[in-house]
Amino acid sequence: MAVDGIVSEPSDEAATDYDVVIVGAGPAGLSAGIYARRVGLNCAILEKGVPGGQVLTSPLIENYPGFPEISGLKLMEQMAEHARRYVDIREGDEVLRVRSAERFEIATTSGRFSSRAIILATGSSHRKLGVPGEEGMTGRGVSYCATCDGFFYKKKEVIVVGGGNTALTDALHLNSIECRVTIVHRRGSLRADRHLQESISQRGIPVLWDTVVEEIQGEDGVKAVKLRNLKSGATKIKPVDGVFVAIGELPSSQLAAELGLKMDPGGFVVVDKSFRTNVPFVYACGDVSGGIRQIVAAVHGGAAAALSCFEDLTNPYYKRT
Ligand code: NAP
Repeated sequence: MAVDGIVSEPSDEAATDYDVVIVGAGPAGLSAGIYARRVGLNCAILEKGVPGGQVLTSPLIENYPGFPEISGLKLMEQMAEHARRYVDIREGDEVLRVRSAERFEIATTSGRFSSRAIILATGSSHRKLGVPGEEGMTGRGVSYCATCDGFFYKKKEVIVVGGGNTALTDALHLNSIECRVTIVHRRGSLRADRHLQESISQRGIPVLWDTVVEEIQGEDGVKAVKLRNLKSGATKIKPVDGVFVAIGELPSSQLAAELGLKMDPGGFVVVDKSFRTNVPFVYACGDVSGGIRQIVAAVHGGAAAALSCFEDLTNPYYKRT
């Protein structure tokens, strides 16, 4: 394939050697791949699952410019399809270890790769409530993905825990597929966007304020939750069929730690405005680098990281003094 001056894909012999390896195929990694290839860098994206990242689980995206209303799944399918025109996305290939030597050496479930640079776009994972019953009933009534699992709870009683954009988007989705949904939030006000708050109240979705889940009860599946009102201290048992946990994300920064990257107290990789980390030729973008967790921000980060990488590897004419 010839793309903007790139003559061919790497030959079989060179297939494990890249200018840059991108880890993660969410919006940040896909954008990085498109930009890296278009400036002529030989690269691959390593993705332990399927392309798309956390956005795949978002029922409805309304704030990605150009797409007034699109499901996360559809948007990411299109983004991955676009990226595949340029870059090899190695699905199901998990990075197990990464080592910095003369080149970066990357061991994955499928083999070994080496590269002159690395872009980490490893994203984040769901934060857990950490209450009794949560772990044992994950997949049996406890879910972190309303889009994936909501269908099973049609006409059933469910709660969504959290007060951010994810919780409200999930609650709206569940309501729209006829689940009887209640939001449980630990404070007296929501941090979600005003627009989502208005939609919640228009649809009459109840919110239990100042309330936390203390226990998820059931044996083979969820039967009830034990709730505590933090103001009154009162507890009650609420019978429910499903618990959707939407209380934020934790950065997937294990590889960052292996590479000795500087991280903030929350575990997010510290980057400069060009998405360079403290280690030369290592860049981080998307959720793992913190900031606003928005698709537009992730695609910006991926593009900027790829262009910084290009500058560092090639010393282009516009950087020369
Ligand atoms: P978030 O904004 O961090 O909100 C997490 C919510 O969970 C907060 O309301 C928080 O309560 C609550 N929470 C945290 N830990 C808790 C615990 N242990 N027990 C009970 N409640 C807990 O996370 P998010 O909603 O996943 O959103 C993450 C990012 O993605 C945000 O930047 C958001 O804007 C973005 N996002 C955007 C959209 C959209 O634009 N359509 C959709 C989804 C996500 P407190 O409020 O009390 O801290």
